[in-house]
Amino acid sequence: MKAITRFAPSPTGYIHIGNVRSAIYPYLVAHQTDGKMILRIEDTDRERYVEGATELIEDTLKWLGLDWDEGPIVGGPNEPYFQSERKDLYLEWAQKLIAAGRAYADPTPSEKIDEYRRECAEKKVPFLYRNFRPENPPEWEPGMPIRFKTIPKAYEWHDEVMGDMHTGPEVLDDIILIKKDGYPTYNFAHIVDDAEMNITHVMRGVEYLSSTPNYLALYEAFGLVRPKLVSLPHILAPTGNKKLGKRDGAKSVTEYRDDGVLAEAMLNYLACLGWNDGTEQEIYTKEELIEKFSLDRIQNSGARYDETKLLWVNGQWIRRIFDTQGARALYDRTVNFWPEAAANFSEDYRIRVLSIIYDRLKTLSDLKTMTGYFFEEPELDVKMITENKFLKKLSEAEIEDLLKKAIVALSDIQDWNAESLQETLNNLLAETGKKPAELFSLVRISLSFAPFSPALNLTMEVLGREVTLARLNKVARSI
Ligand code: GLU
Repeated sequence: MKAITRFAPSPTGYIHIGNVRSAIYPYLVAHQTDGKMILRIEDTDRERYVEGATELIEDTLKWLGLDWDEGPIVGGPNEPYFQSERKDLYLEWAQKLIAAGRAYADPTPSEKIDEYRRECAEKKVPFLYRNFRPENPPEWEPGMPIRFKTIPKAYEWHDEVMGDMHTGPEVLDDIILIKKDGYPTYNFAHIVDDAEMNITHVMRGVEYLSSTPNYLALYEAFGLVRPKLVSLPHILAPTGNKKLGKRDGAKSVTEYRDDGVLAEAMLNYLACLGWNDGTEQEIYTKEELIEKFSLDRIQNSGARYDETKLLWVNGQWIRRIFDTQGARALYDRTVNFWPEAAANFSEDYRIRVLSIIYDRLKTLSDLKTMTGYFFEEPELDVKMITENKFLKKLSEAEIEDLLKKAIVALSDIQDWNAESLQETLNNLLAETGKKPAELFSLVRISLSFAPFSPALNLTMEVLGREVTLARLNKVARSI
């Protein structure tokens, strides 16, 4: 069976990592069966509507490679895909229920409803609107809410993640279908749209689980076949037992992009947050995810967000792109992440720098902090040498002497390449009797004054003879 899934976000802000799985999993399921994923914008809560949020959602999906088959921009047979533009349809469906005696126009003023609520609180009984249903509801007219006329009863259903569920009649109520402002509630609009769009799998956050019996009652009232219901557990904050929210630093997905996380890594990490295929595999391409994903392996308890793991996955992906697609392909992703001074150098030089440092990057923005000395002379900081744990045992005279010997040996190199550089350093070690950690640290720090650099011979090869010798000479003079 071809699956028709949907991602149905409300444009109330950016998509953060706590809710993007509701887009990833529908995408995977749709593509497994050669079906389709629909993007539907649920913008009926006009008070929570945020200008620009739809564009952010589209941007996020496109970046992650989660293209939708129907929806805004691409169109499709179910247009329009903004619920705010489908108001007439919801009213039509609600009126069908009124005609069938399964919904009613509700003229009760809100003060009266508050009174009912207080009454129940005083009596310590749960407030159920169906106990206060108006006896002779009027004809519907604009400005009046329409409520469902529920039939309280027990329900059983299967949730693809949560398993077999059952509830008693106490959870059924006369939920609002159409609000006073003429817009439908989420509870109603999604039932209508899922039916109109022939959705086969409703995949959404677990927060909708408690309302499911009311949705089942609506399917029944309309004589609809229930779609498969898939409740996705919360993603938990790094500590504690609460769900990841914007306050716990749940950044927008695109902020990670701007911080140098690759789309492939983000998709990989998020898809595996609370799902695995039963093997030890941790790195998946989108195609592999499509092939291997299955609903029954979604964990039914919350998965914890772990940024360290995300960055590890990103590091793996940076390597994978370099190793499988080449330096140029990775370089093309790095354009916004170089230190400013890199602009003065050729693309070829930047690619050479990238080629010796890529396997140390956790994010592309590490390039900013890790490669400065390839493009600018580093600030001399003699203490970094004299206080270095390997070098502090040496006197200043010994350090100066060692540097000078290094300069002489390196100047003699005919062919300046990684191999000859390594050979020269090795000979120098034998000749001076110094430990590798001493000689290599001294040369490395003198060239970079950075806490880290790639393999020394590679660093020197890229820096070139002139820059290498000039920097070493400068340090030798300053010790
Ligand atoms: N508009 C709902 C939300 O953003 C979507 C729930 C659903 O997928 O049905 O939470």
